[in-house]
Formats: sequence, C-alpha cells, structure tokens
Amino acid sequence: MKTTDVLLIGAGPIGLEMAVALQEAGYEYVHLEARQVAHTISWFPKQARFFSSPERIAICGVPLRTLDQSKATREEYISYLLGIVQQFRLQIRTYERVTRVSPCEGEYRYEIETSCPHGGETYRAKHVIFTIGDMHGPRPLTLDGETLVEGTNLPHVSSYFDEPHPYFGRKLLIVGGRNSAAEAAVRCFRAGAQVAVSYRRSELDSSIKYWLKPEIEWLIRHYEIKFFPQTVPSCISRTHVTLSKVGDDLAIIPDSDFDEAFDFVLLLIGYRMDGSLLARAGVELQGASQTPNHDPTTMETNRPGIYMAGTAAAGTQLRFKLFIENCHAHVVRIMRHLGSKDPTHINPLAYSDLKRRSLIAES
Ligand code: NAP
Repeated sequence: MKTTDVLLIGAGPIGLEMAVALQEAGYEYVHLEARQVAHTISWFPKQARFFSSPERIAICGVPLRTLDQSKATREEYISYLLGIVQQFRLQIRTYERVTRVSPCEGEYRYEIETSCPHGGETYRAKHVIFTIGDMHGPRPLTLDGETLVEGTNLPHVSSYFDEPHPYFGRKLLIVGGRNSAAEAAVRCFRAGAQVAVSYRRSELDSSIKYWLKPEIEWLIRHYEIKFFPQTVPSCISRTHVTLSKVGDDLAIIPDSDFDEAFDFVLLLIGYRMDGSLLARAGVELQGASQTPNHDPTTMETNRPGIYMAGTAAAGTQLRFKLFIENCHAHVVRIMRHLGSKDPTHINPLAYSDLKRRSLIAES
C-alpha cells in the first residue's frame, strides 16, 4: 500500500500542467495514465491541425512554436507535450489504469486500485484529481434515442478518421454534421474519394469553423460532395447503407428509407466521456451530459478531496464549452483550494486580463 498527498489521473495537456504545478508546490503525488501520454490526441487524424492557436494550447508557460507559424498539427503537439514531460522530469506511470476510487477512513481519505501489465497497485491519497478528458469512446449511433443501428461493427465502418488515403477512388459515407464530419469530408474529397455526407438536420451545423464551413458548403453546392440532409443510417451492410429521412423533430418519417452503395462508412457523430469511475467514487453525474457535480470556483466535486480539471469537468459535451484553451484556469483554482501559491509554470490564459498581461510581458 503506497500513500501520497495527491493522486492525479490522466496525462493529457491539462494533466501535465497540473503535474508541473503540484511538483513546483512540493506535493508528493502519483501520476497515473491508463495508456500513453496524450493518448486521445494520438488517435486524431494524421496531420490534423488544432483549431486553437498555438499560444492557447501551450502549457506550463513553455512556448509552442510551429514550423510555419500556423496552428499546430497533431504530430507537433504530441511532440511538444512529450518534451514538456522530459523538461520537467515528470514521473508518469503510463499503462496503469485506475479501476476503483473509494473513500476510506483517516488522513488518506481515498483508496485507489489500479491494473497494469505487472498486476496492479493499491494507493491511498488525501486528494484525487481527475484530468481524464471527455473522449473515451465514440457516441453510439442510435435511432429515436434507442435502437442500435445494425452493422456499425462491420470492418469497413469506423468512428475514427485516421487519414484520407484508404478512401482514394472509393465511395465513402460520412455521418455527422459538425467539425469532425466536415473536416474529414473535405480532406477525403481532396484526396480523391467520392464523398457523401448524411446529416440529421437540413443544413450543416453553425458550429463548424468559419474557414471550413464555406469550403464544404461550396463543394456540396457544386455537387463535388453529395449531401443527404435530414437523414440517418438505419442499417449498414457490407455494400450498402439504408438511409431514413427524419423530420425536424429527428423522428424517422415512415417509408422514407432508401439504399445507397458505399465502400466505407465513417461515423463522425462525436465522442463521450466514461464517467463510471467517478460515479463509483461517489461523484454525482448530472443531466444529459453527465457533468460531474463540482464547484467551478474550486473544481472540487461533491466528494471532498476529489477534483476535476480539463474537459472532463463538463462531462460529455453536447455543445462544446470546454476546450484545452479555457481549462488552464482549473489548475490555478485547484492549487489555490489546496492552499498553495499560484503556479509559475502556467499558460497565461489561466488568469483574467490583468495578471495575464503581466505574465505575457514577463515571458
Ligand atoms: P460533435 O461536435 O459532438 O458533433 C457530432 C455530430 O454528430 C453532430 O452533427 C450531431 O448532430 C451528430 N450526431 C450525434 N448523434 C447522432 C446520432 N445518433 N445520429 C446521427 N447523428 C448524430 O462531434 P465532433 O464533430 O466529433 O467534434 C468533437 C470536438 O472535436 C468538437 O469540439 C470539435 O470542434 C473538435 N474537433 C476539432 C478538430 C480540430 O481541432 N482540427 C477537428 C474536428 C473536431 P447534431 O448537430 O444534430 O447534434
């Protein structure tokens, strides 16, 4: 049984920024990561560029420079994050998955069990910080909120867009109407795929980035990308997809099904947070988003000593409000609540205007 002041779960960008803050403040902490550092970013499409500008996703006050001064690619950002781990000599126990967090008596008020290739460990901690992100698995394709669409487990169907190359010269159906779907549609079209988009609304969503939306709309208007508005897939076979028309209320219109031939299907309908560990630890998950109940001024949850930082604080986001760039402040709030000084190594965006300006001036 190992004891520690703080047990930190997750090694994405905000998890790393949290670890540096804890280290600087002299906390004894254990940092666990179920897979590898920046795992979620590692399954983003190859060469995808972050929508956020580099200075907004930089962490620990370390500048993120890109080769051409544009937004960072997935590859550049992963490389940057690994550099942060090395620069600050962070000790991260990768491939060690937390399987249970439960309250216990005494000063070390939480017991944490893990599993890893050599078996697993048990820890006791005074505080537990979840920086677990909000994209643990794909959102399931449901119809009328219930039925799981048949065929989503076929080998030519995926919820992850890796790169356009496999779709060259083939018929690809992309399902979804926001950023992942729009970005994949444009990239695959440019890479030589015959792309169609099925979306349950009549027009693509207004949240699509302002530089991407006109491009995909132009390609649809000029019949370069086929658009099936107000449709959802109701059945997927090895060669065809059955699309059903839906009304404004998203209910299926009876007898509106039609079949289209496709070689590949990308279900880019969003991702969801797995809150099961939090729920078992006694953190209340609220509403359709399953948002962990927490005080936004301290990031402490309804379980004293358990904190949320990063996008996981929002649960499964139906409309995105938390991104890396507005989560730096979580680190400062937690450090203050733990009774520590503000971190030196932090993105200036963690602060409101005045302090931010002075930090930028210093750097
Ligand atoms: P998202 O924003 O959650 O959008 C999911 C889409 O799937 C929506 O259009 C939704 O329809 C549709 N959908 C959900 N459930 C469905 C169902 N059962 N049947 C049919 N359609 C369904 O997910 P996302 O596009 O993957 O984006 C996730 C996050 O990643 C966002 O913050 C996004 O900005 C970000 N992102 C960043 C980059 C980048 O930085 N380069 C690229 C892509 C995405 P409704 O619109 O009707 O809800």
